[in-house]
Amino acid sequence: MANLISPDFTFTQSNLQTFTYCRRRFYLRYLKKLIWPAQLVGDQQYAQDRDAGVRFHRLVHQHFLGFEPALLRKVSEADPDPRVATWLETFLSSQMSTLEGELAPEALYTTTLAGHPLSAKVDLLQMNSGKIKIYDWKTSRQLPKETSLKKQAQSRVYPLVISRVLGKDAAVFKLENLSMVYWEANFPDQVIEINSSQDDWQKYETEITASIELILSFQVEEFGKTPDIRKCAWCEYRSYCLRGKAAQSPEDNMEFDLIDDEMKIPGDTVESWGSV
Ligand code: SF4
Repeated sequence: MANLISPDFTFTQSNLQTFTYCRRRFYLRYLKKLIWPAQLVGDQQYAQDRDAGVRFHRLVHQHFLGFEPALLRKVSEADPDPRVATWLETFLSSQMSTLEGELAPEALYTTTLAGHPLSAKVDLLQMNSGKIKIYDWKTSRQLPKETSLKKQAQSRVYPLVISRVLGKDAAVFKLENLSMVYWEANFPDQVIEINSSQDDWQKYETEITASIELILSFQVEEFGKTPDIRKCAWCEYRSYCLRGKAAQSPEDNMEFDLIDDEMKIPGDTVESWGSV
């Protein structure tokens, strides 16, 4: 039978997280490339949150590119969603805005795993005195639990990719450990930092390789619908899958707020859909 996935298909934390969430969703989004019309989804609050988050990420990116804070403030104050100005102000007055060392915002790193590219587009990579930190900005309504974040594909894919890419340059970095820092604009004082070292990267490599190989082995019918129909309330394909038309309330978004964040920055949209 023909392979569903072409050799140049890029795996990312987004599509791997999507596969974990629902195999059917992975198939519809990344293999069929179906974009279900947003107006049929109806969860406007979710779309507003996501779009405001995108604009906030853009401003933070511009900050690290050297744009004047006054200009960024002006842009944020003109934003139709007042939360964007609040988030920016919170960010600018936090220690995150004055990080030291070599800083790489919106940097894309790629390695190869199971014969496929595996990419990580990080919000910010900091290299300071031989230490490496991966920063991720979030605008969640509720503070995620550290245990939930640790289970996310992002907390494994990013350290694995960065350790493989930068670990090659032993003359510059003595890479023994690195950390992933989650900073929430709505909870700026509750930074979550997840450290990892060689043993963890080996474990991540084994797990992610197994996931990719499982995906590669599947035929169409094996990309089944999730048995947990609560997840469908958050999915844009629920009408397509005959799993209900009503959207879930954002306030009820306790468990699934980390469903995926591939729309976080505009460039991710193209990247994350990848080629098949
Ligand atoms: S509606 Fe449910 S079954 Fe269908 S793709 Fe979405 S999560 Fe999966």
